[in-house]
Amino acid sequence: AAKRAGRNTHFFFNEGMREAAEHHLLIHADIQRGMAAEEFELYYQPILNIRTQKIDKCEALIRWNHPEKGLVMPDRFISVAEKTGIIRELGNWILRQSCKDLRTFLEADIDIKLSVNRSVSEFYSSKAYETWKGIFSENSVDSNRFIFEITESLFMDGHSSQMNTISALRKLGVQFSIDDFGTGFSAINYLRNYPVDYLKIDKSFVNDLLNDDQDKTLVEVIIKMGRALGIAVVAEGVEQDEQLAVLESLECDYMQGYLLAKPMPLSQAIPFIHMHEAKQWGVESSPL
Ligand code: C2E
Ligand code: MG
Ligand code: MG
Ligand code: MG
Repeated sequence: AAKRAGRNTHFFFNEGMREAAEHHLLIHADIQRGMAAEEFELYYQPILNIRTQKIDKCEALIRWNHPEKGLVMPDRFISVAEKTGIIRELGNWILRQSCKDLRTFLEADIDIKLSVNRSVSEFYSSKAYETWKGIFSENSVDSNRFIFEITESLFMDGHSSQMNTISALRKLGVQFSIDDFGTGFSAINYLRNYPVDYLKIDKSFVNDLLNDDQDKTLVEVIIKMGRALGIAVVAEGVEQDEQLAVLESLECDYMQGYLLAKPMPLSQAIPFIHMHEAKQWGVESSPL
């Protein structure tokens, strides 16, 4: 009897599933409405080059200025957008907007690369490469100012067409970064076949860096592996001076986190970076 019940749940659309599907459809429709109403916005979080102390990259992080719900964070809608497929349209909007914002950074005399998150499912479309290439050229931006953040899972179910998309984009000058590195249950041998430019150590490792010797060892190993393979390493989620000191001593290349800055609207990111540059200049030119 238990077995039959198990099979039943397999064959029939139960109440919970129906509710989830309805919920997804509602969010899907709301995302479509929100795109038309221009409710989405990209926030920017500075990434610091630890050696030069320059902010030479920013990560673009999507926010939804919702008329009823207020500021909605990506964790509330990105995974649904991935499931319903609307992530492709949204992802194209994100790339288009980041091109426009890049131009604003450059006009403000900020020499920067933008690191843009891409969902795995955005690579499923055979038109992805042509679409993205078109977005770069329509906006007259240099594609070598872009880094695409992807997760290891893209390499796991790596169909050759997705791998071709990556190679073609790399030929255009787009760099690739492995986001949340260390959290996927993946074999690292993809790094041999598919070169990437950055590894972003997941913030859960950085979080335990000071208290957990094992996590510190893992961070150290990732940094050393990156150096040996010629892949720069970014530590994300750095919140404390002490964490940064450890990362510095391990010769980590880049850091990102609340210690430096939270993600902020473009209109705040520009003065923040100007201020950072002025401070740096002040230190360098000081007679001490
Ligand atoms: P992610 O790409 O790993 O982004 C890092 C997340 O950590 C961001 O959350 C950021 O605000 C947060 N963070 C940065 N520094 C710190 C820190 O010092 N401490 C802590 N506790 N958190 C920190 P956010 O903006 O809520 O984004 C969450 C996730 O949503 C992102 O994780 C990414 O997977 C996804 N996402 C965000 N924007 C986009 C997008 O434009 N496209 C796609 N496909 N996914 C996006
Ligand atoms: Mg990211
Ligand atoms: Mg991450
Ligand atoms: Mg993430």
